[in-house]
Amino acid sequence: MREVRIKDTLSGELRTLPRGEPVGIYACGPTVYSRIHIGNARPFVIFMLLTRFLESEGYEATLVINVTDINDKIYEAAKDASEPSEEFAKRMTSSYRQDTDALGLGRPDAEPLASESIEGIVRLISELIDSGHAYESGGDVYFRVSSFEDYGKLSNRRTEDMDQGEEAGSASLKESPLDFALWKAHKEGEDTSWGSPWGPGRPGWHIECSAMAEENLGQSFAIHGGGSDLVFPHHENEIAQSQAAGHPFARIWMHNGMVETAAEKMSKSEGNIFQLSEAVDRYGREAVVAYLISGHYRQPLAFGPGQMEQAAAGVERLRNFFRLQFLGGWEGEPNPSVVERRETFLNALADDFNTPRAMAEVFELVAEANREDVLGAPEAVKEMLKLLGLESLADPEQGGDTEAEALLAEREEARAGKDFARADEIRDRLAAMGWEVRDSSEGAKLVPKA
Ligand SMILES: [Zn+2]
Repeated sequence: MREVRIKDTLSGELRTLPRGEPVGIYACGPTVYSRIHIGNARPFVIFMLLTRFLESEGYEATLVINVTDINDKIYEAAKDASEPSEEFAKRMTSSYRQDTDALGLGRPDAEPLASESIEGIVRLISELIDSGHAYESGGDVYFRVSSFEDYGKLSNRRTEDMDQGEEAGSASLKESPLDFALWKAHKEGEDTSWGSPWGPGRPGWHIECSAMAEENLGQSFAIHGGGSDLVFPHHENEIAQSQAAGHPFARIWMHNGMVETAAEKMSKSEGNIFQLSEAVDRYGREAVVAYLISGHYRQPLAFGPGQMEQAAAGVERLRNFFRLQFLGGWEGEPNPSVVERRETFLNALADDFNTPRAMAEVFELVAEANREDVLGAPEAVKEMLKLLGLESLADPEQGGDTEAEALLAEREEARAGKDFARADEIRDRLAAMGWEVRDSSEGAKLVPKA
């Protein structure tokens, strides 16, 4: 059992997760105004796998990823789709679930919707008004930034460089341009609203997350995560709201870097693969997961067909490894190299969730075991892949080079029917495709040609 350390954006330091303490994790989920793209899938994958790793290390971890289903962008997109915004948000939420289900990593422990969390949101806003940290103005409610001394501590920005990015129309209602909306009065053209002490309206985006995090994990919890584009203003404002209300809130702030596309370099058809469902269809779920963990989570990650093909090739190498190896029991101790690599792999994950370092260890062990028999290697590789959501690669029947598999089956049939000329012909064709057919007592199998 290891002590897991995570880099905290707020202090800039590596922070240890104390053993024996529950680890509540809240990660900001998508705003459901369109199908999600690869960039939205990165925090989903990182936080699902981090939770899986923490549990395997004996931590009691709980992951909450919200869905923002009330938002300006949703009103606009629903109008474009000529659909009521509530229906539209429901449809996009179920698409989001379907698209992330296809990653095969399971679901977070809780997935609260903003539209179902209004009670807690209104309660938190009322607390802030009562304590002088917020004020009502024209049916809106704003957070009084000057009342929170530590404002800006997460993003380290000077107040003159801060822009809340709110619509110009609200400027006259604010005491200061730095203040941000907690509640917005109902406007003409918006087809949903909720009742509140300040009249009908809807919550602001930032207060939704403060309320949903606290409702699911309590007023103090271990990790708040999300993309680095959310540091300001979203997370800065979450801290201000919750701590002004006297709640300790998150102890560690964990941010993933952005997925960066060279969109102008991609043709239109290539550009489609930026949509998660398209990428999964084209490259398979394992390649998409392998791609998303191929860089350290804090770094930006370049995206394009080249990167996806590289991830797919790596995944295929792992599949081939299991085509060659038989999983099963063995007698005695595993090879010392297996023990050492497994340890390095786990330590890399414990050290600020360094997935590329961990993945390198998997590939090293595979290369070693491809050169010579390494006792215990296939089992260890399978176990390591499981922590990365890639255990299905140990079952070569799933996915892979289906054309070659079909040919192999055809060759078996030809041999059974004593049509050896046809069987040889197929063997030659497989050879041209880079496969060697190896007959064994367990039947024929495909082995990549050296
Ligand atoms: Zn959020």
